[in-house]
Amino acid sequence: MLKAFDAIGETLAAHKDHLTELDSAIGDADHGINMSRGFGKVREKLASGTYGDLGAVFKDVGMTLMSSVGGASGPLYGTLFMRMSMKLAGRQEADVSSLAEALEEGLRGIVALGKAQLQDKTMVDALTPAVEAMKKASDDGADLCVALESAVAAAQSGMEATIPLVARKGRASYLGERSAGHQDPGATSTFLILSTLLGSLKG
Ligand code: ADP
Ligand code: MG
Ligand code: MG
Repeated sequence: MLKAFDAIGETLAAHKDHLTELDSAIGDADHGINMSRGFGKVREKLASGTYGDLGAVFKDVGMTLMSSVGGASGPLYGTLFMRMSMKLAGRQEADVSSLAEALEEGLRGIVALGKAQLQDKTMVDALTPAVEAMKKASDDGADLCVALESAVAAAQSGMEATIPLVARKGRASYLGERSAGHQDPGATSTFLILSTLLGSLKG
């Protein structure tokens, strides 16, 4: 997971301009800046820590994002990883079912905080189908890579499906109908995080 978070930081830095461009269309042009700064801090934090279990890793990720990322995405992603950490506490390894449960708990935290529903054009639109796919893979007894592959594919579809939507949460909602026709930045970063996690576990 330490390697995976390092890779996620690299991916978000590489996609900084892409994410910021998406946010310039329907927001305030800072999502790439926010995510690459936040995960830059995460990389620094994890590099200097020693960890006995996955819960402690995820807790540091969440707390670092909370304290270093302004805007909507900092508290939301901070909550995701903090809530995941509660489910992963005491674990040295995560199997499909524990990761599915942790992701579901993280999504619950995001929804409790941000009150977004499906099709409000947010990160929830990418994360919800990913969680569903993970849970189904877990029920089917799939291995971790297969499970994450299905989660990444579901997140990608959810991300792409945000394009025609009219935003009902976050800054993009201020644009009303004019928010349609653009992919949601937060759904895009969620997809990037999951796909990098998959790539890192495979590699
Ligand atoms: P800000 O909008 O404060 O500048 P960012 O640009 O970093 O913050 O993040 C914007 C993203 O946050 C959006 O693309 C959307 O996916 C997500 N977002 C905004 N509000 C909510 C919410 N209430 N619930 C879930 N996600 C949200
Ligand atoms: Mg923004
Ligand atoms: Mg902002």
